[in-house]
Amino acid sequence: MPAATHPPLLDSFIAHLAESDQRVTATRLQVAKAIARRGGHFTAEEICAALPSVGRATVYRNIKLLAEMGFLCRVLLEDGSLHYQVSHRGHHHHLVCTACGLAQDLLGCDIQDLLRTRAGDSGFAVSGHWLEVYGLCRDCQSKAP
Ligand SMILES: [Zn+2]
Ligand SMILES: [Zn+2]
Ligand SMILES: [Zn+2]
Repeated sequence: MPAATHPPLLDSFIAHLAESDQRVTATRLQVAKAIARRGGHFTAEEICAALPSVGRATVYRNIKLLAEMGFLCRVLLEDGSLHYQVSHRGHHHHLVCTACGLAQDLLGCDIQDLLRTRAGDSGFAVSGHWLEVYGLCRDCQSKAP
């Protein structure tokens, strides 16, 4: 997968920490830097492996913090493993390629109203939803026999 870097992630993270009165620690920046260097999605374990000097619990805590702040989103692969990737902030879904693993953001979700209506028939009050779309990306379709 091509390596993409996300330098804006670091700047926004630092700004956001300052705004919410949280400390900008060296460890926090180390975790954010390791994430910004990665292209595509990754597991928390991969970040642990990349940062042997940082405790595992610290890595997990900071990934959770980044996800809560909207800088990372969770990507559920078809095999059930949970990955993270640098996020567009805000609600969106992913188009996950089952051949190369690419997870593209699918912006503009308009199924919440439909779900509200359907779930309302069962007297259920919807608070959210999570949807991943699996298939083949354009490149993998052109490579398919
Ligand atoms: Zn995403
Ligand atoms: Zn693909
Ligand atoms: Zn949605």
